[in-house]
Amino acid sequence: MNPRINCSEDLEKSHLYLCFLIIFSFLTQFGQSQTSKYNVLYLNSYNLGYTWSDSINKGIEKALTKKNVNLYIECLDAKRFGQTHFNTFTTYLQKKYENIKFDAIITSDNDALDYVEQFGIKLYPKIPVVYCGIKNPEDYNFEGYPIYGFIESTDPMKTIGVLIKLNPKAKSLLFITDNTTTGTVIKRDYDNIRKLYPSVKMNFISDIDKNELLNIIKKGDEGDIVYLLRINRDKHGNLLDYMDFFQEIAKKSPKPVFADEEAIIGKGVVGGKANRGFTQGYCAGELAFNLLKNPEKIVAHVNKVEDEYIFDHKQLVRFNIDKSNLPPESVIINKPAFQFIGYIIWLAIIIIILLATVIFLIALNRKKLKAELKVNEQMAEINKRNILLEQSYNKLSTLNYDLEKANGQLFSLNASLKEAKQKAEESERLKSSFLANLSHEIRTPLNAILGFSSLLIEPDLKEGAKENYFNIIQSNSQSLLILIDDILDFSKIEAGQVQVHLEEFVINEILEELYLSFNQRALSPSVQLRLNEEVHKISVEMLTDKIRFKQIFTNLLTNAIKFTEKGYIEFGFQIINPTEIKFYVKDTGIGIDKKYHTTIFERFRKVEDSTRFYSGSGLGLAICKRLVEMLGGKIWVEGDKEVGSTFYFTHPNFTIIKKEEKESRTLTKEGSNYDWEGKVIAIAEDEDTNFWLLEQLLIDHGAKVKHFPDGASIVDYFTNEDISNISLILMDIKMPVMDGFKAFELIKKLHPNLIIIAQTAYAMNDDIAAIKEKGFDDYISKPINKEVFKETINKYLSKEE
Ligand code: ADP
Repeated sequence: MNPRINCSEDLEKSHLYLCFLIIFSFLTQFGQSQTSKYNVLYLNSYNLGYTWSDSINKGIEKALTKKNVNLYIECLDAKRFGQTHFNTFTTYLQKKYENIKFDAIITSDNDALDYVEQFGIKLYPKIPVVYCGIKNPEDYNFEGYPIYGFIESTDPMKTIGVLIKLNPKAKSLLFITDNTTTGTVIKRDYDNIRKLYPSVKMNFISDIDKNELLNIIKKGDEGDIVYLLRINRDKHGNLLDYMDFFQEIAKKSPKPVFADEEAIIGKGVVGGKANRGFTQGYCAGELAFNLLKNPEKIVAHVNKVEDEYIFDHKQLVRFNIDKSNLPPESVIINKPAFQFIGYIIWLAIIIIILLATVIFLIALNRKKLKAELKVNEQMAEINKRNILLEQSYNKLSTLNYDLEKANGQLFSLNASLKEAKQKAEESERLKSSFLANLSHEIRTPLNAILGFSSLLIEPDLKEGAKENYFNIIQSNSQSLLILIDDILDFSKIEAGQVQVHLEEFVINEILEELYLSFNQRALSPSVQLRLNEEVHKISVEMLTDKIRFKQIFTNLLTNAIKFTEKGYIEFGFQIINPTEIKFYVKDTGIGIDKKYHTTIFERFRKVEDSTRFYSGSGLGLAICKRLVEMLGGKIWVEGDKEVGSTFYFTHPNFTIIKKEEKESRTLTKEGSNYDWEGKVIAIAEDEDTNFWLLEQLLIDHGAKVKHFPDGASIVDYFTNEDISNISLILMDIKMPVMDGFKAFELIKKLHPNLIIIAQTAYAMNDDIAAIKEKGFDDYISKPINKEVFKETINKYLSKEE
């Protein structure tokens, strides 16, 4: 192996180097162990602090750390001192490591290997030497020595190929190196490469004059691509700091600059196929350890470490180099810097966003809290208002309920009013019809009375006609009387002036009386009046108002007679059970359509159509209904049109006092041959016509009468005169000066045994009660029923005898 660079000895430099070594040895030995591990000496061609050297150093340390190895690092600093100090360095090593037996040596780059070739193998014979960082192993001759190592396997062919591919428009390529050992080796290689790419002009500068070179570079004429190779010294032999120099070139060059040095890629150089110092160092360390561990193992003397393509992203962008043309698995540096800034920016943005979010959230939270507070306050207010509203609602509900109630009441009132209105209208209609009817009902009998009474005074009146006229007058007067009675009765009932006066009566007698009375009336010859047989068999005592009870029957019988032209009329009672009795009046007359069965009991109601017309006020049944109800019973009608009618009414408070077969009495007309000869009867009566009638009836039977026009005159007479011849008094109740009651009182006081019979208007039934209460011996109703009158008078006059 021949030394490639021979530099002249420089003593001063040697001394300086020695001092440096001594100082550095302290530093490098610091921390190194003295244990019985493998001792490995690492000789670095340059010095620590250079990127390349540090990178190799790191690789070696990485490979040997934690292994059974003590690593001793020594730097030849050949960049500054060249190889002139190799002798001094040997002395230094001998001195420094006199007590250490090295087991292996590792060298990096050519200078260190040169040193081992020249001095090291003598100083430390037969120990394995592992080299790295060289390109020219063939220049060394270690024949027979255990020297192994790794070469920088830069493949200029491929590298040039890549450069041309990345710059397809490049016409020329400028190689720059120096004339150092490394530069010379490279120059020789690139002479060969030049031949491979004849289309690209290859320029080579190795005699470096810094300023000249920078001018050439600035112009950019020598090459469209600049390929920097190794430069350590200029053409004058001055040491160059290739790092600074390369940076300066890369900075000034308008054309892309490439280099195969890892250390300068990323400092202005676009990139290149670089041998990474770390890989070289690591492989060398590993190999050294393996040689020590397995000395028998056969290992190749020359080994390769694969280079890697490294590119600077910034420069690729700067020279607009298409990244897709980069060899696969290229390492792109400086990209992360961009990304890092990007990350930082993004991180900053995220942090800002987060911070803003946090601030926003805090603000929001505050706002929310404030809002919540406000909401709470408002809620409290709302609740308060709600309560008030609820209260108002309740009040309104109550009011509404009241209103609804009132509305309901108004509604029913309205309905009632409507009904009342209808009734009023109906009533009005009925009243009008009643008045029209009444007029007719009054005029008809009056006409007959007036007409026939005027005929009565005709001088040549036939005997039969007189009686006939008289009967007509009688009958019409009777009708008129009934009409007036009905009207008066009804108005009294309506005014609430009628009261019932209950007394115990044997009903049978009343019914028999009625039979007697009605049978005398002019019934149609084809109509038979019947009294139910039961009346003769069962006696019924009843707490009733005799007058009213009779009046009910009278009305029903009158109607029956009026509406029956043939057949029969039957009346009486039916005992349903011991607590229920039904009175009835049944006829075989024209009957009543069922639809009128209720309405006929209303006032002024008459069943009239084109087929029937009968006289009548329409009050009779209304009076009956009220009277029955006053007595505690109810009234209804059964039957149908053309079938006949049966009027029923009930009555409470009755007792069946005996049940025996009564002798069938023949109810015939009693004889009217009363003999009252010599009897004197006092009559107090203000109406002359009434008096005349009474007088006539009495004198017909031989009695005498004494007339008093008012109460005072009769009292006067009975006080002052001899009354021994007077058999009884007929006392009218309504009289001028003094009424009948007062007169009765005074006369009875004086003559308690004197019979005083009251005479009163038929309609004034209340008077009868008063009369009885006063203590009158009896009463006679007006208008006077001849037979009843005579029977009553006779009752007392016959007693006298
Ligand atoms: P009126 O004085 O008209 O007889 P009432 O009130 O006594 O009045 O009778 C009302 C109506 O009832 C009569 O007008 C008549 O149409 C009908 N009515 C009453 N009694 C009878 C009956 N016995 N037979 C047929 N219709 C009768």
